[in-house]
Amino acid sequence: MTASLNLAQQDAVNHLRGPCLVLAGAGSGKTRVITHKIARLIQTGVDGKRIAAITFTNKAAAEMRERARGLVGKAAGEVLICTFHALGVRLLREDGAALGLKPHFSILDSDDVLSLLKDCGTTTDAATARQWQWTISGWKNAGLNAAAALAQATSEGERQTAQLMARYEERLSAYQSVDFDDLIGLPLRLLQQNEQVTEKWQARLAHVLVDEYQDTNATQYELMKRLVGARGSFTAVGDDDQSIYGWRGATLDNLRRLPLDFPQLKVIKLEQNYRSTGAILRAANNVIGPNPKLFPKRLYSELGEGEPVRVVACDHEAHEADRAVARIQSLRQTSTHKDWRDFAILYRANHQAKVFEQALRRAQIPYKVSGGQSFFDRAEIKDLCAWLRLWVNEDDDPAFLRAVTTPKRGIGHQTLAQLSEFAAKAHLSLFGALYAHSLGAALPARAVGSLQEFGRELNDLRYRARHAVGRDAARTLLDDWLAAIHYEKHLHDTSDSPGQAAARWSNVIDFRDWMADRCGGQVADAAGVSRPEEPRTLLDVAQTISLISTLNEREQDPNVVTLSTLHAAKGLEWPHVVLAGVNEGLLPFRPDEDAGAAAQAARIEEERRLMYVGITRAQRTLVVSWTRRRKRGREIVAAQPSRFIAEMALDQATVREDPREKLKALRAEFAQRAASQPTGA
Ligand code: ATP
Ligand code: MG
Repeated sequence: MTASLNLAQQDAVNHLRGPCLVLAGAGSGKTRVITHKIARLIQTGVDGKRIAAITFTNKAAAEMRERARGLVGKAAGEVLICTFHALGVRLLREDGAALGLKPHFSILDSDDVLSLLKDCGTTTDAATARQWQWTISGWKNAGLNAAAALAQATSEGERQTAQLMARYEERLSAYQSVDFDDLIGLPLRLLQQNEQVTEKWQARLAHVLVDEYQDTNATQYELMKRLVGARGSFTAVGDDDQSIYGWRGATLDNLRRLPLDFPQLKVIKLEQNYRSTGAILRAANNVIGPNPKLFPKRLYSELGEGEPVRVVACDHEAHEADRAVARIQSLRQTSTHKDWRDFAILYRANHQAKVFEQALRRAQIPYKVSGGQSFFDRAEIKDLCAWLRLWVNEDDDPAFLRAVTTPKRGIGHQTLAQLSEFAAKAHLSLFGALYAHSLGAALPARAVGSLQEFGRELNDLRYRARHAVGRDAARTLLDDWLAAIHYEKHLHDTSDSPGQAAARWSNVIDFRDWMADRCGGQVADAAGVSRPEEPRTLLDVAQTISLISTLNEREQDPNVVTLSTLHAAKGLEWPHVVLAGVNEGLLPFRPDEDAGAAAQAARIEEERRLMYVGITRAQRTLVVSWTRRRKRGREIVAAQPSRFIAEMALDQATVREDPREKLKALRAEFAQRAASQPTGA
């Protein structure tokens, strides 16, 4: 098995006890070390259940599971391979009671949090609420609760936000709900406060592996430290040059602290890049050169020089998109990598995708956009998720309000306001209030009747969901439910056209099938092969929906061109990459004018790492394109190439394509020829 690993990788894989850090550049086989180490641990007799491997996304987790399965077969299925957040769910489900949390708490996504904050702060302004969300999330990631945030507040604005945070926290706990930050913060608090729980988890986990370690934040690091205990049996792999989540609280200090917190840490460096050609790797090494380093490193490749990196200057975005499409089409004629899945177009910001989508569509090339709007952000899916959340957790008042009004069932605003007032006075959730004796005194009999009818319907569904194990039972229940609430009719009543209603209903059907599939039975893996999975109840599946962003996390690589932000491309690789919009103001992103000089410099360093991540996604060919003009809001403004293009220090062999220059040269040549033609007859 270790034949496909170099000596340094084998070293990392065979270091089975104690702490190990693999610190190495892009494409050097860090993720491969993790997968092989899972297999090695299992082969040496460690029970798969006692291994946890933490990845950055659900997709990465699914991929790692498949790879581990390829190495050790079924035993890999037992390993806990998931994101930090999913691990947090596991911890809280089992032991959250010590914090007053029911096992079936709700997990609010970013949109839910935003509306809850608007509610707590009585504002309708999304920008203000987003600012609060940002600040509160920052505090939570730094380990502060509302009281601590208030104590350290230095301005009136911060004090007000901290007070708002206190109200927000109260609501969350009343609704038995947590936000994404809580999925890390609460397990950490639990382990800090409760020795017994800590001992249980430390005894359970024989080894913890963490991929993309450079992008962990301070709370995630503390959580990892608590989980591994003094024994410190863990493997972290990362690359300081690829730390690109500083803006979200990730900190390179976690890399600096590791040898101090674990003096017996074994540090392994990998230097061979197995991904990219020499030309691509040289450009990457040159770009990252100016950034300060935790340790000096220079990657080499044995894949040969390969094709030179191309820099393409374009007139505007549409031109740039057409060039990218033309490039893909011509490479399909000449390259040995001809599948659509061999191509990616990467860019800095989500809004850049649109023009590439249009160009690909015109050329009838299949594509997917990753890192864009999530399937679960669609209104119809959010409606259904509200119902499911309420099945799971009856105290989830926001879910109650959405479910009781979607589809409309004659329960109006006034009734709900009265119910809310009654529930608040009685210290009950909205659902709990339906069954209070004194409700009849507070609301008209007809309103009470409709509310209790809703409660009955819900209880019936919840009872069935608790017992619906496996795919077929789940599917029947979901169908019965959709029919009972007349959801298809609701879509027809609320859509702009029959076509739109049909499209939304088809999303609902996809969602139903996906939910049912996740309840287990047979599941098709990436290769389309069916294999048995442990059946789960619909309630268990419903709880973790908000952690998932696409329906097809298992579906590894449909044969389509990838459009992706640089952030979402982390850890991935493609034979052919077009890095687009490499302009000042985009990559590096527009500077924040209010920031001080040190903050500006740090920001440029992070943008440079992003450029490095982009370049190192390419295996065989890389095109870097920029435009002379760009749209900025409604205006078209002149644009400059990114400083990072010069920093790639491409040599003479580089092809610098400039269609305008080419045209000018052709015209000049033509004019010259015309001039030298003998005139007259
Ligand atoms: P990134 O920093 O982008 O996350 P990484 O260090 O995790 O990259 P991997 O994705 O593990 O790198 O590996 C990069 C590519 O090199 C993969 O295609 C992998 O299969 C291949 N590879 C890694 N190690 C070896 C090896 N020893 N022999 C052959 N191929 C290898
Ligand atoms: Mg990796």
